[in-house]
Amino acid sequence: MAWKTLDQMDLAGKVVLVRVDINVPVENGVVTDATRIVKIVPTVKDILAKGGKPVLLAHFGRPKGKVVPEMSLKPLVPELEKALGVTVKFADDCIGGPAKTAVAALEPGEVLLLENTRFHAGEEKNDPELSAALAALGEVYVNDAFSAAHRAHSSTEGVAHILPAVAGRLMEAELKALEAALGNPVRPVCAVVGGAKVSTKLDLLGNLVSKVDHLVIGGGMANTFLVAQGIDVGKSLAEREMAETAREILEKAHAVGCAIHLPVDVVVAREFKAGAENETVAKDDCPSDAMILDAGPKSVEEIAAVFEASKTLIWNGPLGAFEIAPFDAATNAAAQKAAELTKDGKLVSVAGGGDTVAALNKAGAAEDFSYISTAGGAFLEWMEGKELPGVAVLTK
Ligand code: AMP
Repeated sequence: MAWKTLDQMDLAGKVVLVRVDINVPVENGVVTDATRIVKIVPTVKDILAKGGKPVLLAHFGRPKGKVVPEMSLKPLVPELEKALGVTVKFADDCIGGPAKTAVAALEPGEVLLLENTRFHAGEEKNDPELSAALAALGEVYVNDAFSAAHRAHSSTEGVAHILPAVAGRLMEAELKALEAALGNPVRPVCAVVGGAKVSTKLDLLGNLVSKVDHLVIGGGMANTFLVAQGIDVGKSLAEREMAETAREILEKAHAVGCAIHLPVDVVVAREFKAGAENETVAKDDCPSDAMILDAGPKSVEEIAAVFEASKTLIWNGPLGAFEIAPFDAATNAAAQKAAELTKDGKLVSVAGGGDTVAALNKAGAAEDFSYISTAGGAFLEWMEGKELPGVAVLTK
């Protein structure tokens, strides 16, 4: 797939609407983590350097189509100015009089931030009238919010049908990384899917078996697969009613030649708490009063060997209850192995999804991965093979 980018667009003297994700955490009016703001800097600076006038479109929280003063974007202006090093002006509404006046008054070198797009009920309905009102403000549309691209909203999709639309730098980086991992990857490709439940990741597993060469299944969801193989997992978290579905996934994998890797040994405990007394047993030796909380060292060895045999890795979900030591051991060891291979230039590694980012950070491995997506829902939908409306519209 090819996306249009800022490089294909003449921006000199043009008003450029830029959809960004600056939905940052704020406590008592102060931004507590400015990561998302820092990440939009390259795009905004590029637009300024090309002589364009950036007008930022963004949502903040879930005001559900009403003006909720606590969800105003205005308090973010100082943080934006700090990150961008230029004057950032603000308009009290993202369309209509306030927005038009502010756009008209915008001087070259300045940036304008428009109020929360979700203050309008039309935003989440992708209302053509709202899309037209937004489009009327500018001449070019840039989408830099991959994390919001799984939603067809006015500011993420509707407006892109009206104005010439391109991907911003952050969107471009994300799409390149994702394309390298699943779209057009160097093979063999290995996917790691972990986490609590099979039921929340069915689409993901279904899509991956047909695309990857190796699928490592870990975490609570591996227990469901063990149950599907007739193994007693004691008091472990497992969705016993999903056993048939798990069997179908195993059969599909077998049919298409995707090797499935389940734990061969497991770490079991009687309590779900940090430091709980535990032992490592074979996968079919979980005592009836114990629960599986992590993959064991032999499983980790097998996973490491799969990583070594792979050229591309895509990872979502921890291999065990990573929040409570020592049940973070398998996740940590596997993450560190992937980081090491990536650092040595032997592996392209892409990971994403809420808990995964936390788990890889905790393992001290995130820095060395080729790409870590913080896009949560959009990343998962992409891994599920779904078309993201905000991305699709940039390819036309
Ligand atoms: P998810 O949000 O589906 O990626 O699931 C992540 C959660 O799964 C984390 O909170 C882990 O603690 C939990 N988890 C992983 N493995 C296990 C396990 N064997 N038993 C219970 N919870 C687990």
